[in-house]
Amino acid sequence: MVITYVNEYTKLDMKQPVQEKKIWEILETVTDPEIPVLSIIDMGIVRAVQLNNDGELTITITPTYSGCPAMDAISMDIRLKLIEQGYRHVKILSVLSPAWTTDWMSEAGKEKLKAYGIAPPVNRAEDAARPDIECPQCHSHHTSLLSQFGSTACKALYQCNECKEPFDYFKCH
Ligand SMILES: [Zn+2]
Repeated sequence: MVITYVNEYTKLDMKQPVQEKKIWEILETVTDPEIPVLSIIDMGIVRAVQLNNDGELTITITPTYSGCPAMDAISMDIRLKLIEQGYRHVKILSVLSPAWTTDWMSEAGKEKLKAYGIAPPVNRAEDAARPDIECPQCHSHHTSLLSQFGSTACKALYQCNECKEPFDYFKCH
């Protein structure tokens, strides 16, 4: 039985069992339905991959928001993508504790969000200090909060005082 955790998988190389790396690569192709530029790995949703000797695969995920309808779609997509690649026995384990936090979002994921026009979450410690959120268009920090709720409940709507563009900020959790 082999378990790899999310903080280890990027270090996998060909010395490791090839299977494991392949599974993480398949999971990289599963995207967040609300933010299609982000994979579930970028989001920090996938916590661990466990492959048993008999070929049974267990994927441990932590939902971003409890009761988020996107999670059903994500679970189904994980299962489908793995079945397509020949993994027949897939178990998806949903673990609620410790709760998901935006701090688990990868740096690569934050860069992708920015390129998509959404200001990525700052870390929670910084957020408490009410930082000025950087405009994803012109990178000015001279921005104002327009509404606590943007296009979805997890985002706030900001406007840049320099380029005047409104933008979503992915709030910290
Ligand atoms: Zn701007």
